[in-house]
Amino acid sequence: MNESDWGNYLPETQSIRAGQFRTAEQEHSDPLFLTSSYIFGSAAEAAARFSGKEAGNIYSRFSNPTVRAFEERLALLEGGERCIATASGMAAIASIAYTLLNADDHVVCSRSVFGNTTLLFKNFMSRFNVDTTFVSLTDQAEWEAAIRPETKLLFLETPSNPLTEIADIPRLAQLAHDNNCLLIVDNVFCTPALQQPLALGADIVVHSATKYIDGQGRCVGGAVVGKQALLEEKILPFMKTCGPSMSPFNAWVFLNGLETLSLRMKAHCENANALAHWLEAQPSVSKVYYPGLESHPQFELAAKQQKAAGGVLSFEVKGGQEAAWRLIDATKMVSITANLGDTKTTITHPATTTHSKLTAEERAESGIADSLVRISVGLENNGDIQADLLRGL
Ligand SMILES: *Cc1c(COP(=O)(O)O)cnc(C)c1O
Repeated sequence: MNESDWGNYLPETQSIRAGQFRTAEQEHSDPLFLTSSYIFGSAAEAAARFSGKEAGNIYSRFSNPTVRAFEERLALLEGGERCIATASGMAAIASIAYTLLNADDHVVCSRSVFGNTTLLFKNFMSRFNVDTTFVSLTDQAEWEAAIRPETKLLFLETPSNPLTEIADIPRLAQLAHDNNCLLIVDNVFCTPALQQPLALGADIVVHSATKYIDGQGRCVGGAVVGKQALLEEKILPFMKTCGPSMSPFNAWVFLNGLETLSLRMKAHCENANALAHWLEAQPSVSKVYYPGLESHPQFELAAKQQKAAGGVLSFEVKGGQEAAWRLIDATKMVSITANLGDTKTTITHPATTTHSKLTAEERAESGIADSLVRISVGLENNGDIQADLLRGL
């Protein structure tokens, strides 16, 4: 079956079968091509490949069949024309920044993005005189006010980490396009199983495949998804020259991760939803942040934009940092780690880990309280997760 035929199937089917091709061995599972280079039948064939006259593999920094299968499958799931796999989520975001921005351009970025994304714009793009304005994810007026004639990109993550704020993607896409900018959406928290930003108007989706796409915390990888012409003109030459390419082994793990993505996301959401409601009823919990709760400020927007509320939640406990740490240290089963999107439930204290590089004022401005705890809800029995938390509550 060729690539275009998979477009006629629904996501659950695409995530299992799209992008697969079989070698002459007629293997059933996706083949893993651990090879750095490819041989040519003749000097003339080598010349034709190198000149670009003939399509085909040359070297795995440029292309690899296992990586290509992953790219085709993820492109279909995101509803994009083309996907380029990268060595990590940060490699995907850096590839965008280094290819879609020129010296003296300007970026408007949500304040609630992954810490290294903030550092990329603040410490690295600034060296090319690319200025970035950080705004509140949910305040449309702030986005509007930040746009300048030299603005080229709007960048956001939704839901945000750790407070699960929701951006209005169609509205921000409109703002971007009215100002000749591109809207980039980091879709790590939802994955295409819950949200398709391209269908909502975004121009490019970026992923850290390290999280839910792998789903079991094994490999680091990322991806850029969007229009074929844009990706092949701007990002592909950068990948080939600068080399932040995905390892074939990791692509093979991610291909297998995608097969169970929709099932896993459904189960993560069910567990997180149950846990959020349970936490809301605990006397020692003062506030729960989860888009599936009616108390969430963007509950309705989340319901409209996402198939379900996601697998990550956070909450504030009474008693500040001391109480938060006591809760974390009292757990026996859940893992104390900042990683997320794993079958294993993870717990972290954002103020002293993921957000510790911010000043106290910046944390206050971003709403990261000392009493805040974040949980990436795994697929264990929900009663066992609750019992583990109850020890310290
Ligand atoms: C982890 C993460 C990244 C970075 O991905 P890596 O694979 O760790 O480089 C980017 N965005 C979000 C939302 C993340 O959670």
